[in-house]
Amino acid sequence: MLLVLKKDITPGERRALEARLAASGALARPFRAAGAEVLALHSGAERVAPSAASLPGVDRVLPAGEGYLLASRELSPGATEVAVGPARIGGPSFVLAAGPCAVEDEAQIEACAAAAAGAGALILRGGSYKPRTSPYSFQGLGEEGLRLHRAAADRHGLLMMSEVLDREDLPRVAAVADLLQVGSRNMQNFPLLQALGASGKPVLLKRGLAATREELLLAAEYLLAGGNPRVILCERGVRSFDPALRHTLDLGSVVLLKQMTHLPVMVDPSHAAGRRDLVPPLARAAAAAGADGLLVEIHPDPARALSDGPQALLPEELLALRADLERILPVAGKTLGGSP
Ligand code: PEP
Ligand code: MN
Repeated sequence: MLLVLKKDITPGERRALEARLAASGALARPFRAAGAEVLALHSGAERVAPSAASLPGVDRVLPAGEGYLLASRELSPGATEVAVGPARIGGPSFVLAAGPCAVEDEAQIEACAAAAAGAGALILRGGSYKPRTSPYSFQGLGEEGLRLHRAAADRHGLLMMSEVLDREDLPRVAAVADLLQVGSRNMQNFPLLQALGASGKPVLLKRGLAATREELLLAAEYLLAGGNPRVILCERGVRSFDPALRHTLDLGSVVLLKQMTHLPVMVDPSHAAGRRDLVPPLARAAAAAGADGLLVEIHPDPARALSDGPQALLPEELLALRADLERILPVAGKTLGGSP
């Protein structure tokens, strides 16, 4: 059970409420949501339930059943715009994040940064700690990759997004990146989510390969409940029975999520498609469906890429996608975000 406190609760009401909760043995954990103070009752809720609405200082009582109260539109009916540096994600602008799957060397990340900036992207994506299915695959350059990534982003006036694989990497990545990515394999890594909740950095949370929307929203709830309001969701395809595509891009989910949550929803067509030729059509469809932005993998020489080459767009293909997006986005009431 969740108690939403009155915005103008008096010190006297607060003391009386605390005394009543203590007397009932209820354990209350405080949160802030949409400017309101919320108490989540963890035990003893049944003892206060019958008269919860008339407890001193309580404005509303909500069932905890929904679970993702902070992520839901219950307390925050309007869309939330997440600030990442000077960029705003979730409002009228559509934000493009482009870059390589993994940072490989200086020339590669420089070529990607130039291509991303030239195509209207605000964010340079790229992993330096890579979650690879095989232990024999390239695992990323680590700290050296972060350094090259930051320098390339700065040269082109771009923001930097990099993946955090575990709690140990967090301080290193958070020290240089503007936006921290949680990969689909880590969506339910709760200790990592808790650490990111406390990090104060914006987080892009990818939907797990076989996660329901509710599980995605509950994972987001960990970040929000941990005190981090800057959360962006990302659809990147789910596992299906059909191996023709790498994953199945769940665009219905983009529409549903926008109804279920006030948080921005971006789409990654690259990991869903797994094939270069399918990326632009899926990207166009995502824009038309109301996504708040895209994550697109690019590479100056995909045949030599150390990871995910087959799905990487060439710089000129990203430029062509930009032109398509500019024509499609008015349908969704959005415009491609300008340089920060
Ligand atoms: C990525 O974006 O580099 C990545 C590894 O994606 P995902 O977690 O969606 O597989
Ligand atoms: Mn990749």
